[in-house]
Amino acid sequence: MQGSRRIANITGGGSDGWEVFLRARQMIEAGTPVVELTIGEHDIRTAAPVLQAMHGAAMGGHTGYAAVPGTRALRAAVAARVEARTGVPTRPENVLITPGGQAALFAAHIATCDPGDRALFIDPYYATYPGTIRGAGAVPCAVAAQPADDFQPRRDALEAVAAGAVSLLINTPNNPTGVVYDRQTLEGICAVARQHDLWVISDEVYDTQIWEGSHLSIRAMDGMAERVLVVGSMSKSHAMTGSRCGWIVGPEQVIADLTNLATHTTYGVPGYIQDASSFALGLGGAFEAEIAAPFARRRRLAKSILAAQDQVRLVPAQGAMYLMLDIRATGLSGTDFANALLETHHIAVMPGESFGAAAAGHIRVAMTVEDQVFGQALGQLCAFAAQCAEVKNRPEQG
Ligand code: PMP
Repeated sequence: MQGSRRIANITGGGSDGWEVFLRARQMIEAGTPVVELTIGEHDIRTAAPVLQAMHGAAMGGHTGYAAVPGTRALRAAVAARVEARTGVPTRPENVLITPGGQAALFAAHIATCDPGDRALFIDPYYATYPGTIRGAGAVPCAVAAQPADDFQPRRDALEAVAAGAVSLLINTPNNPTGVVYDRQTLEGICAVARQHDLWVISDEVYDTQIWEGSHLSIRAMDGMAERVLVVGSMSKSHAMTGSRCGWIVGPEQVIADLTNLATHTTYGVPGYIQDASSFALGLGGAFEAEIAAPFARRRRLAKSILAAQDQVRLVPAQGAMYLMLDIRATGLSGTDFANALLETHHIAVMPGESFGAAAAGHIRVAMTVEDQVFGQALGQLCAFAAQCAEVKNRPEQG
């Protein structure tokens, strides 16, 4: 028996870019210590008071089916937070609670794209994007953001492919580049979206991790709220990755339609997880800042280490828990550099190529180990890059 073409094609065949990560995991299992700077997960666990709220809710009986679009309290808390952060009037009816941001990304594409529709996304991209779009039955179409533009997607690149497309998925603060879209970038996106009547799916799961400038939500730009679905999540902002709680914010009719989809797919998110999430949101900005603080600190540390050398260039690290490093001066591809670094120094980073062709010659470093180990690994990485560059630039002998 064969499964559907849709499910067989989710990853599009070929490499999914996780080879270095998997090799690192194998080395660890075989007993070799590896400094893992690969995946985007905090080195702290969910805070005890949040777990206590979860426990209290479960013991209090919130273990049956919860309301499919989300509890009234959590939808209201998300709506209030979004309104406070963006100034856009937002009601609980504009919010659907989902099992994490990933499920929200999938549902948002189901809500906007019919089978065979062209769905745009920006390269470099979070690794699941093309598969999520394929899973929803649409056809993924990458639009490159260039290193020379510090990976801000440009209006002309979008214009070149927008005709006939239905949706555009953007992500700011960005994984993997760490770039925060500026106003000019967002205005360019708005202009193209209006001109070509595109839905914009705006992945803002890193909106509490801003190190430079400020986060602008495209939903707050002139006249955009009617065509924007914002994806949010408790995962990164509240260190609740395993709780699987996220949301979509959008026009009421789309949220009503998405509730219907949820009734036929997830049937909602566990009530005790939603209660813990409401509690965590109630802890306010100070708690979110506490969760983000280690990344801010490590970014400062990284900037001082990287300032002392000139082989590795830091792409402006304005937000999110990653650093994108341009290692083209070494003459190696991101994949070759990452493999060699793992082999020689037992440090695992993600090749830029894992996140699309536009990030070739780069590596992504997750700032997710404690400061001292992080600083030491980054120092070793720079020394290794210098050695590679030296070999590359050595004059031919004889
Ligand atoms: N979007 C981006 C850009 C991400 O990096 C991630 C997780 N790494 C997600 C969405 C999904 O996160 P979650 O499903 O845990 O909310």
